[in-house]
Amino acid sequence: MGISKAKRLYWFQLGGIASKKAYASLCKDCGKCVPKCPQNIDIPKELSTIATEMEGLTMKVAVALAKGFFSVQRRFVVRRKRQG
Ligand code: SF4
Repeated sequence: MGISKAKRLYWFQLGGIASKKAYASLCKDCGKCVPKCPQNIDIPKELSTIATEMEGLTMKVAVALAKGFFSVQRRFVVRRKRQG
């Protein structure tokens, strides 16, 4: 069974590959957002559910590998530009 498209997008967009890390498990469960939500959504609970569903060791390994790949690729492109 492969990794779903939703997970790959989540990892790429929120895992810190394409931009700043913003994945669900970064929530500190401080509760400050709960009284401010106009729809009374239990945001920390929902984020915890998302973290359980979308994150884990596989995400950490995939993100680390992708970051490594893009880092090497970036250095390769820079080197090629310097060589003309
Ligand atoms: S999402 Fe809500 S509970 Fe989680 S860290 Fe931010 S303010 Fe705190």
